[in-house]
Amino acid sequence: MTDSPPPSDRSKGAASTALGLFRPVLFAAAAIGLALGGLVLSHRSNPEIAALPPAPRPEKPAVSAAGEPKTEPRTAAAPIVLPEAGPPPPPIAASDFRSLQADFRGFGATRPAEPAAEPEPPAPDHYELTLRLERGDTIEKLLADIDVPEADRKQIHERFAALLKKRRLAVGQEVELILQNVPEQPDAPRVLALSVRPQPEREFIVTRREDGVYEGEEKIYQVSPRIVRVEGERHGPLEQSGVRAGVPPGAMSDFMRALSYEVDFQRELKQGMKFTVLLEQLVTSDGRVTHPGRLLAGELRLLKRTVTVIRFRPQNGADGFYNPNGESVVRAFLRTPMDASKISSRFGMREHPVLGYSALHAGVDFAAPPGTPILAAGAGRVVQAGPNGGYGLYVKLQHTSDVATAYAHMSRFGPGIKQGAVVRQGQVIGFVGSTGLSTGPHLHYEFHRAGKQVNPLAQKFAMRAQLVGKDGQRFHALARQYLAQLKNAPTVAQTTPAKEPSPPQEARRP
Ligand SMILES: [Zn+2]
Repeated sequence: MTDSPPPSDRSKGAASTALGLFRPVLFAAAAIGLALGGLVLSHRSNPEIAALPPAPRPEKPAVSAAGEPKTEPRTAAAPIVLPEAGPPPPPIAASDFRSLQADFRGFGATRPAEPAAEPEPPAPDHYELTLRLERGDTIEKLLADIDVPEADRKQIHERFAALLKKRRLAVGQEVELILQNVPEQPDAPRVLALSVRPQPEREFIVTRREDGVYEGEEKIYQVSPRIVRVEGERHGPLEQSGVRAGVPPGAMSDFMRALSYEVDFQRELKQGMKFTVLLEQLVTSDGRVTHPGRLLAGELRLLKRTVTVIRFRPQNGADGFYNPNGESVVRAFLRTPMDASKISSRFGMREHPVLGYSALHAGVDFAAPPGTPILAAGAGRVVQAGPNGGYGLYVKLQHTSDVATAYAHMSRFGPGIKQGAVVRQGQVIGFVGSTGLSTGPHLHYEFHRAGKQVNPLAQKFAMRAQLVGKDGQRFHALARQYLAQLKNAPTVAQTTPAKEPSPPQEARRP
């Protein structure tokens, strides 16, 4: 690594002749970039990239530059934990970064007051360069490729390694440089500043002091929530329409799940139907999005009605979705205790298919192939599991003191299903069979209220959890806010600067 390497791919296609022309532009860009904290990297907000395979070269531990007292910046000494979630780290005191910015503002002093008015503005000696790490790259190699003098490279590498600790940078990571032309070494640019921002909330900066010594600094950006709105129209599958409109996939699938209790996607969804979702994004203090947004609320406008879902967390409860009346979108009971089932006989009077005389059919029959799993309609406790006369193999679940469900003619029970067992909603409690008085494989399903069989299909609207008391008050205040924000919150497009990040300039040297 002591020799300047031959020109690498990095240098090919370099607009080196154009660089002189662009210098004022680059300089201005550098000044703006520094003032705003590096907009050039604004599209590098994907945390997955940080998980890419690391560069193979291990970073050396920090050592002080020869003859220099070890001057570790205090921020670099703090233990670094890569946060995916959790409370944002405290921001670095503004004073920590001010000295750095002061240096950069110093460049501005040399800038012509009105560059456009002057025919020949003096070419500034600073310019900005953005490079990307390639596979097998290191910061030192990258600097060698643009002919940064070896002594500087070593210092920068050491400072940078101290900041980075054991972490590796991902292939494709952008490295921003402020370079200076030095007359006495025209082929070897001087690095005034090097900045890498592997995560939106964390930036590593190495800067050159006036005395030629490099200093490392870690900048932490505070992350805070921001509420935005996305409007979309259904063309093709709703979920994809949402993602195309800018809803993060996770938020869109939450929306779909919340709607699924209320909307028949097969029959009710039409092309061109409009929807709006309200998202809570996490944004750094300089405007970078660290989380694309979780769903707070959403509305889907169907032909004759609008379905609105609102996220809420009751006291001591878990996050869930509610309609604007404060009723959980999740029903306490599944409408049908099995998937893809067909109702073959409804609740009510009928001629009994085996006994032959007319009697109350006290449940609903679902025709299904033998072995089809039967799901617990709601959370509860098994109060009966065994043969039960004409019911054949039979399971009864008690859900509340008032409500029970029963399942008959099973071929066998689900795992762990016995008297006293606790079951969750949707748990497999048994399999379709034809035991007992039965003409063929089916599930006979009963719904008991206060010990009496009632029509299960008539119970569907009665069984939702409703927010009441303090939860209800909190919910209604929040719902009012969200319903207003569904109409007037800034859209994602309004909060995202239209500016495209400038492509990295590939240049060999000025
Ligand atoms: Zn039946």
